[in-house]
Amino acid sequence: MGGCDGESTNICVRFFINVVRWLPVVFVAAIVGWAYYAYVYQLTILTVESLPIQILYLVVFHILLILFIASYYQTIFAQLPKPPPEFYLTRECIEELNESNEDSQHTEILQRFVHLQGLQIRTRAFEGGVRYCHKCKCIKPDRSHHCSICSQCVRKFDHHCPWVNTCVSFHNYKFFILFLGYGFSLCLWGALTDLPYFIQFWQNNNMNRVVFGQFNVVFLFFVSSMFCLSLGCLFFYHLLLTGRNRTTLESFRPPLFTHGPDKRAYDMGISRNYRQVFGSKPILWLLPIYSSHGNGIDFASRLESIEATRLLDCTDEDDDDEEFFNRIV
Ligand SMILES: [Zn+2]
Ligand SMILES: [Zn+2]
Repeated sequence: MGGCDGESTNICVRFFINVVRWLPVVFVAAIVGWAYYAYVYQLTILTVESLPIQILYLVVFHILLILFIASYYQTIFAQLPKPPPEFYLTRECIEELNESNEDSQHTEILQRFVHLQGLQIRTRAFEGGVRYCHKCKCIKPDRSHHCSICSQCVRKFDHHCPWVNTCVSFHNYKFFILFLGYGFSLCLWGALTDLPYFIQFWQNNNMNRVVFGQFNVVFLFFVSSMFCLSLGCLFFYHLLLTGRNRTTLESFRPPLFTHGPDKRAYDMGISRNYRQVFGSKPILWLLPIYSSHGNGIDFASRLESIEATRLLDCTDEDDDDEEFFNRIV
C-alpha cells in the first residue's frame, strides 16, 4: 500500500512540475492571442481609416506572425537527442568504476573506454580527464552538457530556456534564433505602426474617457516596445555568438582542452560559423526548416586547421628539401 501511495505521489509531483514548466509557454501564447485581437481588430479594423494602410498592416503582420509561431513551435518541439549509444558505459565498465575509489583509477577506466570505443573527444574536464556524466553514465561528447531539468545530456548545449520549456541546443538553435528574430521584427512592426495612434491618443487628451478599445491600442504599444527591446537584445547577442561559434555557456566558461581553455576553438570564420547553424542553401536561411550542418557530436575545430597548416608547411619544407636534393644530384 505504502509503495503504491509513494508511486501515486510521485506521479502527482511529476504532473504538477510538468504543468508549472508549461506555464511560461501558456503565458506567451496568451500574450500573442491578446496582441492579435488588439492589433488586427482594435487597431487595424476599428482605428485605422485608410483601406490601403489597413491591407498593408494586415499583410505584414500576418507574414511575421506565421513565421514567428512556426519558429516558436519548432524550437519547442524539435527533437532533443541523447548522445549516441557508443558514448554510454557498458555495465562492466560502470561496475569497475563503482569498485575503484581513486580519481586516477576513474580517469584511467574512462580513458580506456574512450580509446576502445574509438570516441572522438577533444574537450576535457577540470582535472584534465575525460568528461563523464554521472547521471546518464555516459562520456559527454564535445560541447554537450547535462541539463538537470531535461534530465539528459544535451548536444551543443546552449542553455535551458523556460520560455520554450526545453533546452536551446544543437537541434533547435536555428529555430531559436529565428524565433527571437521574428519576435523582434513583429514587436518592432507593431510598435511603429501603433505609434501614430498612441501619440494621437495622448494629444487628444483622452485620459478621462478611456474606453476599452483605446486601452488596447495604448497598451499594445507598451507591450510591443517592451518585448521589442528584450527580444532585440537577445537576438543580436545570439547573432554575435553564432558569428563566433560559441554557445552562451562557452561565452562564460570556455571549453577546456589538453592545452587549456580555448574560447575560440570552434571559430572557423564568420561565414562557416553561420553556415554551421543556418546551412548552405540561402533559400532556407530565414525559414523555420531544419538546415544546420553536422550531428551535434563532431565539430570542426580551429585547432585542426592550425595543425593541418603546420603539416602542410612541413610538407612544403620537405618538397623544398627534395627539390634542393634533386638539383644537387
Ligand atoms: Zn547527463
Ligand atoms: Zn533542458
